[in-house]
Amino acid sequence: MTNELNQLKSLLESSNRFIILAHKSPDGDAVGSAAAFYHFLSNLSCSAKVVLPDLPSDTLLPFMAHTDCLYFSEHPDAVKARFEEASVLICLDFNAPSRVGDMHALIEEFSGVKVMIDHHPEPEPFADIMISDVSNSSTCQLIYECIQGMDFAHAVNQDVARSLYLGIMTDTGSFRFPSVNAKTHQILSELIHTGIRHWQIHQDVFDNNRIDQLQLRGFAISEKLVLLNNQDKSCPVGYISLTRTELDRFNYKAGDTEGLVNVILSLEGIKVGVLIQEKSDGIKMSFRSKDEIFINELAKQHFNGGGHKYAAGGISFDSMEVTISKLTSLLQAQFHQE
Ligand code: 5GP
Ligand code: MN
Repeated sequence: MTNELNQLKSLLESSNRFIILAHKSPDGDAVGSAAAFYHFLSNLSCSAKVVLPDLPSDTLLPFMAHTDCLYFSEHPDAVKARFEEASVLICLDFNAPSRVGDMHALIEEFSGVKVMIDHHPEPEPFADIMISDVSNSSTCQLIYECIQGMDFAHAVNQDVARSLYLGIMTDTGSFRFPSVNAKTHQILSELIHTGIRHWQIHQDVFDNNRIDQLQLRGFAISEKLVLLNNQDKSCPVGYISLTRTELDRFNYKAGDTEGLVNVILSLEGIKVGVLIQEKSDGIKMSFRSKDEIFINELAKQHFNGGGHKYAAGGISFDSMEVTISKLTSLLQAQFHQE
């Protein structure tokens, strides 16, 4: 067992009060990690509370049921009180305090022990115990490996298994990205052996669209997809931009455009897909790439973001027009350099 896992195991074995936190705009891996860790700690009879910066999508919200989760966007004072009562903070699926938005000060001021379990590149050294595995498919897979490594596999019941399956499934595009390996499938097999209805998780996440959501997708693909390689064959890039007015037209709710950026990448010959959406706090950008093209540096250097080599995000505070023109010239420059 690594030194970090030993330290985490000691924390779990002494009577600590845990608070579990995942990143802003929680995706399946963030929700799955937080819910799994809560159920795991409860099975070990540890005292645990979950807090999230804001609500996940309606599709993911049911996975937070029975975790006694509080959202900072809704109950900031109650969330602060939880930080004051806790002795150990478990940070999941993020590697820098800025990823929890306005809650970053609560992490910085926390007086207890801080633990981070995460798989994003370039972690900031903000925690006392840092468990980082950049090559791991998901934080959920990493959590399972930690549980096994600490000899706590008996605490993986169906609640833990269902939550971990959710995170591995969503962060790997349903088990198809290069980050998936034999170990991922081995772990999935062990999770399925607990007796969970794994197919139900796929159905709950992917077959739960509202009609507005599907129509927004249709509109985005048919009316708003721009292919840069139509003009310039050496620039295999596609992007979709959606203004606030366009999103409102389809009664946009959080999570409605989840997966849309991957549709761009599914086009033959396309190596970079970008989804650009006007949100209340700026222009949110989602980047995806494949083959030998890495997109996280561009997100980090030019759009206040970062992420994985093939899946990154960022935000722009320029107008939509300026953002698009900056993006296209940066991508053209990147491809002409290759
Ligand atoms: P998405 O496009 O799904 O919002 O984000 C894809 C990935 O990019 C996330 O898993 C996360 O790793 C990363 N990411 C998204 N937004 C940000 C951001 O603002 N900052 C950083 N550092 N990473 C981000
Ligand atoms: Mn993740």
